[in-house]
Amino acid sequence: MSGREKGHVSIIGLGPGAEGAVTPDAQAALGAAQDIIGYGPYVARVQLRPDQERHASDNRVEIERARHALDLAAGGRRVAVVSSGDPGVFAMAAAIFEALEADPARWEGVAITVIPGITAMLAAAARLGAPLGHDFCAINLSDNLKPWELVEKRLRHAARGDFAMAFYNPSSRSRPWQFARTLEILREECGPDTVIVFARNVTRDDERFAITTLAEARPEQADMRTVVIVGSSLTRLIERGADRPIVYTPRWAGMPPEGAA
Ligand code: SAH
Repeated sequence: MSGREKGHVSIIGLGPGAEGAVTPDAQAALGAAQDIIGYGPYVARVQLRPDQERHASDNRVEIERARHALDLAAGGRRVAVVSSGDPGVFAMAAAIFEALEADPARWEGVAITVIPGITAMLAAAARLGAPLGHDFCAINLSDNLKPWELVEKRLRHAARGDFAMAFYNPSSRSRPWQFARTLEILREECGPDTVIVFARNVTRDDERFAITTLAEARPEQADMRTVVIVGSSLTRLIERGADRPIVYTPRWAGMPPEGAA
């Protein structure tokens, strides 16, 4: 490969689903690519020109996919690696850097750019009102790449810290009991009236929200297409007649500023 100009890898966030939520920078980076690499359903969201090549792969092979992208770029290609939402949130950007760190010499000189996207929790929060309007955290409930004990520990600490929380990958066929356990832990740590929202397929045609309380929530309300938002003790609803209530967390904790409810 010596003497040949190295290509580059753009790691692109496609947003939560709606075309309008793809940023102009992401569009431009996709337009500049010769190869589009990613998990099948994400690659399928990209409208290809005849001169662009699609490389779809299975969801579980992130490191392999990362190496493939870097190898193509080392050979001079302009490569786009696509993720849903934001590529830095439980997605491909970290996988690319894991591969790079394991073998830095192999891809010396390959330019790598990360293009942000709208992540699921922020798309869901915007639809609901402002449930993440004060301190919050995001937790990946999948124990594919970390021990379940660590998930439980982080959950408990976040709940005790009274953070609002967003849960990604809450439930899947290969992880059938974990979300039920998540609800158990939350019920031990938070009040029964704590707001919990199941936001499914946000910004897509079949978008759906279920707004309920920790006491009423059922494990089967979450699946792989759902981001779950759990409020802090201050998260509340504003009823709006026939419309969906607004869910929000005020900016303050402890002492309301003048003019606040
Ligand atoms: N990088 C992505 C997250 C990938 S992990 C992002 O930033 O959004 C996959 C998880 O993201 C899913 O299990 C689900 O919890 C969440 N998710 C992604 N898109 C979603 C959408 N449109 N609606 C609801 N949840 C979504």
